[in-house]
Amino acid sequence: MDIIALVNAEGFVTYVSPSITPIMGYQPEEFVGSSALVLVHPSDLDHMQQVFGAVLQEEGQPIRAEYRLRSANGTYRWFEATATNWLRDPEVGAIVGHFHDITERKEAEERVGFLSEASKLLASSLDYQTTLTTIAQLVVPLLADWCTIYLVDHQGQIQLLDIAHIDPDKVQWAKQLRESYPIDPQAPIGAPQVIRTGKSELIADIPDALLVAVAKNEEELHFLRLVGYRSLMMVPLIAAGRVIGAITFVSAESGRRFTASDLSLAEEVGLRAGAAIEHAQLYQEVQQARDQLTIILQGVADGIIVYDQHNQVIYANEMVARMMGMPSVQAILDTPSDTIFARYTLVDEQGQPITLSQLPHRRVLAGEQREAEALVGYRAAAAGEAEFWTLSRARPVFDEQGKVIFVISILHDLTGRVLDERRKDAFLAMVSHELKTPVTSLKGLTQVLSLRLANHPEAQVGLFLERMDTQLTKLTRLINDLLTLSQMQAGDLSMREEVFDLDALIRETMEQVQATTTTHHLQLQGAASVKVTGDRERLAQVLINLLTNAIRYSPRTDRVLVRVQADQSQAEIAVQDFGIGIDQTHHERIFERFYQVPDQTERTFPGMGIGLYLARTITERHGGRIWVESRKGKGSTFRVKLPLVKGEQIDMPDRTLREKREVER
Ligand code: ADP
Repeated sequence: MDIIALVNAEGFVTYVSPSITPIMGYQPEEFVGSSALVLVHPSDLDHMQQVFGAVLQEEGQPIRAEYRLRSANGTYRWFEATATNWLRDPEVGAIVGHFHDITERKEAEERVGFLSEASKLLASSLDYQTTLTTIAQLVVPLLADWCTIYLVDHQGQIQLLDIAHIDPDKVQWAKQLRESYPIDPQAPIGAPQVIRTGKSELIADIPDALLVAVAKNEEELHFLRLVGYRSLMMVPLIAAGRVIGAITFVSAESGRRFTASDLSLAEEVGLRAGAAIEHAQLYQEVQQARDQLTIILQGVADGIIVYDQHNQVIYANEMVARMMGMPSVQAILDTPSDTIFARYTLVDEQGQPITLSQLPHRRVLAGEQREAEALVGYRAAAAGEAEFWTLSRARPVFDEQGKVIFVISILHDLTGRVLDERRKDAFLAMVSHELKTPVTSLKGLTQVLSLRLANHPEAQVGLFLERMDTQLTKLTRLINDLLTLSQMQAGDLSMREEVFDLDALIRETMEQVQATTTTHHLQLQGAASVKVTGDRERLAQVLINLLTNAIRYSPRTDRVLVRVQADQSQAEIAVQDFGIGIDQTHHERIFERFYQVPDQTERTFPGMGIGLYLARTITERHGGRIWVESRKGKGSTFRVKLPLVKGEQIDMPDRTLREKREVER
């Protein structure tokens, strides 16, 4: 159902169809003789005057326009109007207006537009107070004449965040009013109620009686009446499931009467605003946590450096910059990681140069190791720059598919300790060297004396000299071990290369050790009948250590068994005792430097804890293996496996030895 109206050339209405009554609530006669623009919304008036001018110009051409007309209840409705100038038509003689009510469509469009605008605004800032204020400005005058936003503060108090109205004077006035009449958190109606219940409220019509009921005194009632409340809706602001405030929408001078669909629009605004606040709060929390983490990581005394899967540095703390002599963390991020390290000659614990690919983070990145750790020394190319040492530990971080996405490397500065160790090593080297010379001459002199005094009438003299010689032999061995250890530490343990008969070596060594013990009998079983290439003296040192241990750790027995066998490729020597034995948990650790089994209940055994470490290092340098088979209380068997000269599978870690072999072949 549409409305038809006729208008004369002067712009006065001459006829209105009766359909105006159901649509707008007027009687048709009411308008006859009044201006055609009488009901037009003030904001559309200018435009409609232009349209009317155009209609007067264009004869017989329908001209279309969309605009608002005030209906009898004071609200405005949208119409799509077509006006055709038939003024000169002898039969019509008027401008014919045809009005089609499009209020619903317009309001729907308005809602969509409003919501999308509101969403944009909400997403535009992470400062939610600013955002909410902007929302209030958007609501007015599109949806309401007044918009007020309340937030609950940390103490649970309801605070006014903003009031919006098109007229700034009125805003000022309303704010002052709020100051004089602060919001009553217990009020049974209005924002406090919405905040308490979390439920929205719509009061489509506000009768004067309601104002009277709400006002606390005459003065307040006066102000409330001044606002001219027509219609009211209130929606809660909910973030993370908690009511954090409310938005109220007031219709006053526009005469707009809020409907259920207005309320659902308002609720939608409330929901989105709540979500935006939640988002902003989360963001703030994340930001805070990140800032905190950054401060912590920057303050850590260790260097922290993180590489992506392409070996590019994605994070480094201040400490790394300081260690690596880089001007800033940013400089590290801007430099390819290998370039940073390439400024130094990198060395391992023994001072041997290592390549970049041997660094722990590179080994983890290459998938060689799940976790890697190494003591790395950095020697600057430039003279005068001090070297430094780090204990570098690298660990990967995986994605859901189990792929390495980055590697975190911790660099712990060990420069002080390494240099300290070095000084100790130097001291050890010096001491053992200084001891060796006098002991060697003492031993020589003792032997000369024994010869000279062989026929001495006093029988004891020979015995004492023999004991002296034994003790000097033991002392020489200790000094030898110390010297070897210090050479290992310094990374210059040289290995001689000689071909010798293994059985002979074993026999001689056993005789030597036998001479220093009166308690044990050393027995040899089997024979290798092979020649071995290597350092005869150092292999003897291995055997001496195993034999003296066997004697020392079997105080209640009198026998040590040595078994030898060999095949085409390798020889095996087993040294077995029947003494205190070693619990499984220590089987590997006893080969570590300075490790001694702590719980030897029977008695304390003297020793330096280096014999087996030397034995393992020397054996491995010969491409062999050493291990123990033992149980606590059941004696021990130490086995040494050595590859033979022509063995194909010989793997000699000692490069000089291997290279020499290759030349031989
Ligand atoms: P140490 O000078 O203390 O003997 P080693 O390196 O030779 O140092 O041996 C390390 C530790 O291994 C010893 O302290 C001892 O606890 C244990 N051990 C070595 N050999 C034997 C053995 N034959 N029987 C029992 N325990 C042994």
